[in-house]
Amino acid sequence: MGTFVFTLFINTFAKHYQADCRAWVLMQDFQAFKQLLHTPKKIVIVTHHNPDADALGSSLGLSGLLQKMNHQVDVITPSDYPVFLHWMKGHEQVRVYENAEKPAINKLVENAQLIFCLDFSSLKRINDLGEQVNRSQAVKVLIDHHLDPEDFADFYFCSTGAAATAELVYELVVALERTGLIDQDIAEALYAGIMTDTGSFQHSNTTQSVHRIVADLIELGADTHKVSRLIYDSNTLERLQFLGFALSKRLVLLQEYNTAFFAISKEDLVRFNSKTGDTEGLVNYALSIKGVVLAALIIDRGELIKLSLRSVGDFSVNQLARKHFEGGGHRNAAGGKSTVSLQETVDKFIDLLPLYKSKLTSTKQISNV
Ligand code: 5GP
Ligand code: MN
Repeated sequence: MGTFVFTLFINTFAKHYQADCRAWVLMQDFQAFKQLLHTPKKIVIVTHHNPDADALGSSLGLSGLLQKMNHQVDVITPSDYPVFLHWMKGHEQVRVYENAEKPAINKLVENAQLIFCLDFSSLKRINDLGEQVNRSQAVKVLIDHHLDPEDFADFYFCSTGAAATAELVYELVVALERTGLIDQDIAEALYAGIMTDTGSFQHSNTTQSVHRIVADLIELGADTHKVSRLIYDSNTLERLQFLGFALSKRLVLLQEYNTAFFAISKEDLVRFNSKTGDTEGLVNYALSIKGVVLAALIIDRGELIKLSLRSVGDFSVNQLARKHFEGGGHRNAAGGKSTVSLQETVDKFIDLLPLYKSKLTSTKQISNV
């Protein structure tokens, strides 16, 4: 990776460097990047598997903006996403990388002149699509806020100090001096990413910059109440009943380790007719127990066991996920997977806890880092 950091980015990102010394931004030559956008291009935007509001919101926000700059843009997701995100402008045009669609999408990736990779730091996160992206001759741009970005892109617009990829997209638009193109739809897509990745402005990643950007987005037309209702108040009765069941029957507290976890079987998901996104946010209930430092949601998804990990303070679930569950993410929110059974995965998780006991029991409960 190059080391030339364009001064505009030093200015734009000074706050991230202050907020998080591990944060970094590399944009080898911003003018060259800007130049690429001067003439209409065939652009593909890809985001991670199981897209959340930040993945989809940053992708559709950027897509809306690039279309206004006269580019031809296709947004591709490796898998489908929750119904409560379908309100976003551009949702109908999103291409989901499913079997029947694969040949056509592979062509799009192959023929793209520019590929933006949003909200993931490793091509492994986008499954088979990663190979296609790697192979494509397109200029690649990574916009992301996860730890340890992989070395595959031509331009990096990354900062672990950013709360959301949508925040970085907004800052990129500022750097491009194109905020005038942000309309209500774009503002709301970006707002959705920031709102959810900050846990509605409750997580420790909620910086001054986040609030300032949100103020800008409101000025640009975002209806924050509408977005909040669309995302959080769209439960089905079954989803709420599943939540009740999970809380009463599947939540385990291991007081000795300040740890709580849910283990959800395939049968549990079938019983409550669980849909994509229905388990989102569940892990936070485990983390909300007083004294809990580490929370996990362990779900049997059939083809594999998926783990969602959360922590408070300086206990790093990113490290835990990387080391033991082939995953990663952020310090306080990460994910991983396992290919053994649900019970064996739960046993492995519990067996790991003694290794981390001193950290789990000494971690400060309230962190402003
Ligand atoms: P969630 O638990 O909400 O699915 O994900 C929490 C964070 O961890 C997100 O930033 C997500 O991108 C990341 N993450 C989730 N699963 C994986 C995984 O399997 N591998 C990696 N590297 N990151 C993951
Ligand atoms: Mn994100």
